[in-house]
Amino acid sequence: MLDFKTRKEVDAVLDTTHLIGKAFINGNFVDAVSGETFDNVSPRDGKVLNQVASCDSPDVDLAVGAARKVFEAGTWSDMEPKERKKVMLRFAQAFADNAAELAVLETIDMGKPIAESTGFDVGAVYECLQWYAEWCDKVYDEIAPSGPNSLGMITREAIGVVGAVTPWNFPMLMSMWKVAPALAAGNSVILKPAEQSPLTALRIAELAAEAGVPDGVFNVLPGFGPTAGQSIGMHMDIDALVFTGSGEIGKKFLQYSGQSNMKRVWLECGGKTPFIVFNDCKDIGEAAETVTNSMFFNQGEVCVAPSRLIVENGIRNEFMSEVRAAASKISAGDPLNPDTKMGAMVDENQMNRVLDYIKIGENEGAEITTGGNRANLNIGGYYIEPTIFEGVRNDMRIAQEEIFGPVLSVIDVTDVDEAVRTANDSQFGLAASVWTKDLSKAHQVSRKLRSGSVWVNCFDGGDITMPFGGYKQSGNGRDRSAHALDKYTELKSTWMEL
Ligand code: NAD
Repeated sequence: MLDFKTRKEVDAVLDTTHLIGKAFINGNFVDAVSGETFDNVSPRDGKVLNQVASCDSPDVDLAVGAARKVFEAGTWSDMEPKERKKVMLRFAQAFADNAAELAVLETIDMGKPIAESTGFDVGAVYECLQWYAEWCDKVYDEIAPSGPNSLGMITREAIGVVGAVTPWNFPMLMSMWKVAPALAAGNSVILKPAEQSPLTALRIAELAAEAGVPDGVFNVLPGFGPTAGQSIGMHMDIDALVFTGSGEIGKKFLQYSGQSNMKRVWLECGGKTPFIVFNDCKDIGEAAETVTNSMFFNQGEVCVAPSRLIVENGIRNEFMSEVRAAASKISAGDPLNPDTKMGAMVDENQMNRVLDYIKIGENEGAEITTGGNRANLNIGGYYIEPTIFEGVRNDMRIAQEEIFGPVLSVIDVTDVDEAVRTANDSQFGLAASVWTKDLSKAHQVSRKLRSGSVWVNCFDGGDITMPFGGYKQSGNGRDRSAHALDKYTELKSTWMEL
């Protein structure tokens, strides 16, 4: 596993990194048609890293034109599956060979600790690229159970041109969860990374091209939501749109589809994950460490962050003193330092949004028992202390709305039924975690939880083999696993009279 031991090692990679500021269309790095660029600011110190092309509808037209042309030509879509697999495996290897640079780019662009970029993100992306590469030549079609005089074939076909619009919290991983299965299925892809974090997507596009992904098959258009994002959503020649981001923008994509060509829309949106600890939790220390580390992982900018801690009364006091003790060991620091545990908020807006929620929580009557303030003003970036609110009611805004920052809300409950009711009383249904040594209870509670993932006596368990996505307003469809391929293929029924 990639691991930087010293700041000097990180800086050595930083000195050689390649900051790309152009769009990648049809195999070439190009300026936006308008010539416009935007400042790409690093959240670690608030300084401009580079100028990046600001794409809009003319750029989307060019990319979609190239993507459609190569799709129709069959260069990629009709490539022998085992040959497509070889290219995808080379792409995965090129990613692994450049993992150190990509980890540093991710950290300077979005503020996560370098230890997380190396210890989590690059490994998960590599696994994803490799895993979907292997699917290229392993998906079989079906024959229907017809009588002897007919033949019913059910075949999967690539859907065509896929638009992918992704967020800034795990820029590489959220993008590759979409790009890898879409490419494996033979589609052409237009990726728009979040404006806060375009650097890794652009470098990955370059690596894909070097690995042999044909021109026009994988295009990356940096730019803003209301320009590049909306143009992708409204485009008449994009067949499917996959999105990870907020519910507010997810709903816009549903509208864009209705106002344009009824493109398929698949959404991975927000969450407010309940982390439920029952009186019979077998290891309170482990549960406390887990909720704390998971809550402040990636500065709390995680769709599944366990931001609602629901604790049964019998262990409440003991449990919370362990949580506060665990939180006291975490502080926000320069994300390029290998020992930093929590980095910077992605930008000034997000920092202010989180600070506003902290004020809202105080005004609602919850008690701050840890943190609550901006941190590291001397570095110049956007840092917030790990923050814990206790005495939270589930109807407070800090329990109902996604804060997307390092803020934990603690809710006390008296029994199992109240815990389940409270957990389900949310517009979201992305994930839940349950801590009990009684496996029957764990089963029963898991079945009642309205969420796409349930983790028992662990948090964020699973890997690329398990589907990931939400119930309710957390979205539709699933990333990861073979189920993700459903989003990138159409089913064709061919019936023949023999
Ligand atoms: P966001 O919705 O603001 O932006 C996501 C993407 O949409 C960006 O690329 C942005 O440029 C684009 N966009 C913004 N406005 C647009 C518009 N009007 N039209 C078209 N595109 C537009 O989300 P964010 O702030 O980047 O990310 C945080 C959100 O992502 C949180 O809600 C988080 O829960 C969610 N998220 C969900 C998952 C999941 O798998 N469920 C994973 C990670 C993040």
